[in-house]
Amino acid sequence: MTVTTATLGFPRIGPRRELKFALEKFWSGKSDETELLGAAAGLRTASWARQNALGVDWLPSGDFSLYDHMLDMSAMLGAIPDRYGVPHGTADLSTYFAMARGTGGADSVTACEMTKWFDTNYHYIVPELHAGQHLALGRLGVVDAYREAKAQGFETRPVIVGPITWLSLAKGHGIDPFDYLEEVLGLYRVILGHLGQAGAEWVQIDEPILVTDLDDRQRSALTRAYAKLARSGPKLMLTTYFGGLGDNLSFAASLPVSGLHIDCVRAPEQLDRLVRIAPKSLLLSLGVIDGRNVWRADLAALLDRLEPIAALRDIVVAPSCSLLHVPVDLDLEQKLDDEVKQWLAFAAQKVAELTTLKTALNEGRDAVAKDLAASTEASVSRKRSQRIHDSAVAARVHQATPDMRQRKSGHDERTRAQAEALNLPLFPTTTIGSFPQTREVRKARASYNRGEMDAAGYDAFLRAETERAIRWQEEVGLDMLVHGEFERNDMVQYFGEKLSGFAFTTGGWVQSYGSRCVRPPILFGDVSRPEPMTVDWWHYAQGLTDRPVKGMLTGPVTILNWSFVRDDQPREDSCRQIALAIRDEVRDLEAAGCKAIQIDEAALREGLPLRRDAWRHYLDWAVDCFRLAASGVEDRTQIHTHMCYSEFNDILADIGAMDADVISIETARSQMELLEGFARYEYPAAIGPGVYDIHTPRVPGEDEMVHLIRLAQRHLRPEQLWVNPDCGLKTRRWEEVRPSIDAMVAAARTLRAEG
Ligand code: GLN
Ligand code: ZN
Repeated sequence: MTVTTATLGFPRIGPRRELKFALEKFWSGKSDETELLGAAAGLRTASWARQNALGVDWLPSGDFSLYDHMLDMSAMLGAIPDRYGVPHGTADLSTYFAMARGTGGADSVTACEMTKWFDTNYHYIVPELHAGQHLALGRLGVVDAYREAKAQGFETRPVIVGPITWLSLAKGHGIDPFDYLEEVLGLYRVILGHLGQAGAEWVQIDEPILVTDLDDRQRSALTRAYAKLARSGPKLMLTTYFGGLGDNLSFAASLPVSGLHIDCVRAPEQLDRLVRIAPKSLLLSLGVIDGRNVWRADLAALLDRLEPIAALRDIVVAPSCSLLHVPVDLDLEQKLDDEVKQWLAFAAQKVAELTTLKTALNEGRDAVAKDLAASTEASVSRKRSQRIHDSAVAARVHQATPDMRQRKSGHDERTRAQAEALNLPLFPTTTIGSFPQTREVRKARASYNRGEMDAAGYDAFLRAETERAIRWQEEVGLDMLVHGEFERNDMVQYFGEKLSGFAFTTGGWVQSYGSRCVRPPILFGDVSRPEPMTVDWWHYAQGLTDRPVKGMLTGPVTILNWSFVRDDQPREDSCRQIALAIRDEVRDLEAAGCKAIQIDEAALREGLPLRRDAWRHYLDWAVDCFRLAASGVEDRTQIHTHMCYSEFNDILADIGAMDADVISIETARSQMELLEGFARYEYPAAIGPGVYDIHTPRVPGEDEMVHLIRLAQRHLRPEQLWVNPDCGLKTRRWEEVRPSIDAMVAAARTLRAEG
């Protein structure tokens, strides 16, 4: 039997973020369309050539995108909302970018919504459908890409997002997106027909929606869709990822497609089940290399699993999902030490692992004995390394007792103690933590990192910035101050760099959205805190003022969710280790005299599992970790938390269980509606519903904010309310922040005066 290899998609940004720079140059008017498209074509060619050289049999085409693959699909279906003024559904480049980013100027138009792609940190552009919308075939980028590859001598398997995933993620304005099912399927048929005519024998059709809980409507739509699409030309490789098919497994295997790809990393248990039920005529693609994480695979262990299957049927070995979610090339890393480096594999290395697996399966393990030995050696080294396993850390997690997760007293008592300690007015005003990261701040950091500015110079610069921020806050009259976070590059990286157990890359960029990339820390070992991380900065800031300055920390769940994490122990174990490190920091801040400490959990909600039945377990340990981090303080110390989103209704009890004294949330855009839920749930603590939307440069007026706080009072007692922006101010300019915060303080005063 024959084994082949496939990639389901390769990182688009390029090994050195070439796409980012090409896009930003174009957007700023410094290059034209020809130059941008030329750069994009160059990246595609390089990516095909690289994967080809590394031995991939099924090369993808159409996985590249100038911004986002969901937006590409919307463009191909002509699903362009009316406000972009393209009546016949063909999006040119400027319409495409307008949908992605909005436009400024006189006839400005807002962008489409953007949200996270399943449980990843990648954001897609949400398709919009409204009543009477005209769908029509747009430019078929996927057909162009297929032909482009072919002209260069690469035979590829085009990739498209499947219709049911696209419809399930679409937002209907006054209609149900599934009303458009037949129309959408008709267009998919045409697209597949064109691909077939161009010569594509197979098409990869991504339906990650199959790993989620499906309702009857989605199931019947899937049945309907694949009955129709199976006869449209090319053979279909129905591709699922980000989890197991679970209760959808036999359903998926029975759809009339020619191949099925499953994620064997997140859900290894589904492999045997599928092999048992799948007819031999169904080509199985097994996602055995982790497309969501950076660890090198244990190839010998994988071969033990795959050999018996490959003896019986043809299989494709592949990454679990598109390699979009990992950095491009480990070989470009200069600063990682050799020990950590040998444990890792980025996209290019993962492709090489697939080739090794394929060769071993087709020709026997001896044919790649050296590669297999290296893989085994790396995995043994990872299991044994002193840098990964710190018995003191493990023991501490083990010994953490229930009372460590419990504040000394309940809300009422704490509220009294804190009121006495802090002596704040009604409707206290504060901000979420960061102040503008200006060009000067970023320049100073870069020059310090390059070694041009010395530590003393950088420290002096940061102190001056912090002092300026404190004076500024006193002047505008805020009640609870922050130090401004000027010393932080990023809310997770800053802590990762100070904790042991984390490694950092120099070029390990992963696309977050459009041209935006992130460089997640790599959590490789047991976590401990060698020394206090924030106390000096807090202490310095508090020394400058009589008003209370909040201590500012990132919470354990957020640090975990925004990092590449260990795959050799459960996530919750890693999280508890981080929680204990943060707990030490919280206690050190309190001991230094800090009266209010904010522990941000910006990423708690997005860590929710895709399957509803896994929510409980996740929420239990996530809340437990927060409490472990936060509960080591006296009643008089006020614990704040911050979450930058507005969907809480389904997790309100858990938000309550976190037992913070004050929670600040994002509400400025949603007219305080979500406070209804907090009220219904009788949320006992204080809430700072954001009254200033920091995501836009728009400066809100005092009246608007008074209005929002009045709306909030419909749901909450006045003593429960804090007044603050939606999120940190780091992306804004001082010129915008000043009038906005002035108005915010004025709004609070107006309401106080009303009594
Ligand atoms: N304290 C952080 C800040 O203000 C919070 C950021 C966030 O929630 N994303 O920047
Ligand atoms: Zn936020």
